[in-house]
Amino acid sequence: MAQTSAIRSAVPLRLGAVREAIVDRLERVLGKSTENATRRDIYDALSIAVREELTERWIATGQRVARARVKRICYLSMEFLLGRSLINALSSFEDELLTEVRETVESLGHDLDHIAAEEEDPGLGNGGLGRLAACFLDSLATLGYAATGYGIRYDYGIFTQVIEKDGAQREVASSWLGFHYFWETGQGGIRHRVRFGGQCRATRDDHGRVRYEWVDTQDVWAVGYDLLIPGNRSPTVNHLRLWSGRAITPFRIEAFNHGNYAAAVAEQVDAKNLTRVLYPDDSTPQGKELRFKQQYFFVSASLQDLLGQHMAERRPLKDLSNAIAVQLNDTHPALTVVELMRLLVDTYDMEWAAAWKITREVCSYTNHTLLPEALETWPVSFFERLLPRHLQIVYQINRDFLEEVSAKFPQDLDRRRRMSLINEDGDRRVRMAYLSVVGSHRVNGVAKLHSRLMRETIFSDFAQLWPERFTNVTNGIAVRRWLKQANPLLSALLTEKLGPAWENDLEDLERLKWAADDADFRHRFREIKRANKERLAKTIHQLLGVTVSVDAMFDVQVKRIHEYKRQLLNLLHVVARYQRLLDNPDDPMPKRVVMFAGKAAPGYHMAKAIIKLINNIAHVINNDARIGDKLKVCFLPDYDVTLAQEIMPAADLSEQISTAGMEASGTGNMKLSLNGALTIGTLDGANIEIKDAVGDENIFIFGMTTEEVVARRAQGYSPADEVARNPALKRAIELIDSGYFTPDNIFDSKVVSDRLLSHGEHFLVLADFDEYMAAQARVDELFLNTDEWTRKSVINALSMGPFSSDRSIREYADSIWAIKPVL
Ligand SMILES: *Cc1c(COP(=O)(O)O)cnc(C)c1O
Repeated sequence: MAQTSAIRSAVPLRLGAVREAIVDRLERVLGKSTENATRRDIYDALSIAVREELTERWIATGQRVARARVKRICYLSMEFLLGRSLINALSSFEDELLTEVRETVESLGHDLDHIAAEEEDPGLGNGGLGRLAACFLDSLATLGYAATGYGIRYDYGIFTQVIEKDGAQREVASSWLGFHYFWETGQGGIRHRVRFGGQCRATRDDHGRVRYEWVDTQDVWAVGYDLLIPGNRSPTVNHLRLWSGRAITPFRIEAFNHGNYAAAVAEQVDAKNLTRVLYPDDSTPQGKELRFKQQYFFVSASLQDLLGQHMAERRPLKDLSNAIAVQLNDTHPALTVVELMRLLVDTYDMEWAAAWKITREVCSYTNHTLLPEALETWPVSFFERLLPRHLQIVYQINRDFLEEVSAKFPQDLDRRRRMSLINEDGDRRVRMAYLSVVGSHRVNGVAKLHSRLMRETIFSDFAQLWPERFTNVTNGIAVRRWLKQANPLLSALLTEKLGPAWENDLEDLERLKWAADDADFRHRFREIKRANKERLAKTIHQLLGVTVSVDAMFDVQVKRIHEYKRQLLNLLHVVARYQRLLDNPDDPMPKRVVMFAGKAAPGYHMAKAIIKLINNIAHVINNDARIGDKLKVCFLPDYDVTLAQEIMPAADLSEQISTAGMEASGTGNMKLSLNGALTIGTLDGANIEIKDAVGDENIFIFGMTTEEVVARRAQGYSPADEVARNPALKRAIELIDSGYFTPDNIFDSKVVSDRLLSHGEHFLVLADFDEYMAAQARVDELFLNTDEWTRKSVINALSMGPFSSDRSIREYADSIWAIKPVL
């Protein structure tokens, strides 16, 4: 902040003075001459000017919030996948300003899109969960809510994915902070002490009450950095506060004087290591101690921050739940429940019962997965060693809780065992999901199906005890990033027809539904899709050297690589299609470009084998002269928000083909449909709600339902039986298994085919093959009817009103947080 005001210029970024504002930052702040300014210099200068503008609005927002004393939302998440900031900020201002910036940059000899491409994505997340958090921050600001995101400022967020010559994924560490990152404000101005280890001492105070002291701890600073979050066409600018670890004593001069340099800086190294890296796995927690420490670190800093603010505003602690709502994005911040109790009881002297009431009123929890292996538990031994006082608090919460269980279900000892916050089987562990349920007043799933399954499976005992606690809020996406910025051509068309209201009210697109039947509108819609495809085709050529035809169907599956998402089902269709084309080169089926993108967790060997196989199959097919441009397969490396923004608007077909019951919601499905892709998908996650919104005739649904999946597994699923009764499947698997696509190493294919054929294969890939192929045949047939395809595509885009994250946030606000906007 000090730095910001020091460079605060007499030339603000205003309509009519954009050039002066940029030149001012170039010359005065960066010391560059306008004539010799590089693309990067212009990016830097413009970013500083935009950030200053945001800062001013942010300060004003803070003042309004403090005056109005409205309730604040604190969104705690270990991941945020924001994407780039420059265009996002610029396009949140008036249109005229963006236009003038564009023209000014041109007059300086540059193109705004190229300038914007200088920016590094702060990749502080793995996938859907982190992107959801970013979409929610966008909506919170746009709707005028006072909201703060809290997370971790990893030096190394998600790795950069490089594809080797042999097709394998290699992970490259890349720091978004390596090159000066302009979007942070308040560098290091805020810090809190976070404690670890030590021991817990019980004493009696003057009133004879037992007090707990946590002593002999090893402490670190959590230093806060803010990223500003502008609301679209809204005066509200909120912030995302990210914590970075620093030593209390960064340098030990006595050690240095004894010649031990390593010891002199060891404390700083340890503190910084705490926030060095994001664990790059989004579905199987590895139970690493460092991860546990990261969770406590950011929870403790965030709670101190918000309680400190509450006290600074001289509001009584007993009113905390009227002043603050804390949303736990998955169980990663579940220690909030325990840390808030510790702060209220030990630091602020509150009675246990009163503190517990407040804690539950403040906290609510969003569940993101039903996979048992993805439910976090932490060894009791970690607590003993690192958080001894917290362990006592967990035990006390558990005692009170199990008493409540016993009161309602007397004599049901097994229920107590099942529901206990401590898993006593094997090494004793704290069940973080149960802790989150017990410590929250609301628990939500992220799509209707998911929320039902959550109540019926992992939390069924809890739903019997507290039925009113469980609810659904279907995920959504930020319209600004996924339509306004990602697809400027379509946005312009929509605004031409409707005015700009749809930007902040996606349901407004409904009014344009007639246009699906209007030939002229369809024509323009098609031309836009074509232009977007041309842009992506150019990128594909640059990245892969593969030439793709924009007449072909762009068939995309872009998401983390995971067996449950079934990229292999898609790949089987690719192979079968290839064989069909070899059999009959004159087959009239439409051309397709099948695109994949997504990262595999570095330790997930099967996911990495899948990437390698996709690339090897792509290599063979793309270089088979017999096939030409009838079928191309592309794996686009290093999927991130920026690449997603380019792919979504160019897609014709959206592959959402997870095993039913396994994808909690999905949000990629929403982004693609909003940009006019038709979905081929299973009855899973939000696909079901998308089907209801667009109509059965405008989506390609196939495959087993959740119930059928469960039944099939119970019968003892046999892949061999599927192969035996299906010749096309048999042939495709055999071609893969033969090593045809991986002549240098047959094993690269066999690991994958063996998995598909292994008895009881958990994701039932082959069991859905038949129906998937039939659905793909319907896709082909429709695509040949360009006009009808476009009509359905228009209907898809215009039906996405319910999937705006603005709608999600309004539901959280009404049914979970009980808040009103400031403005
Ligand atoms: C939307 C998004 C996701 C989530 O995709 P799903 O298809 O819902 O799994 C993951 N990564 C990025 C970069 C995204 O933008």
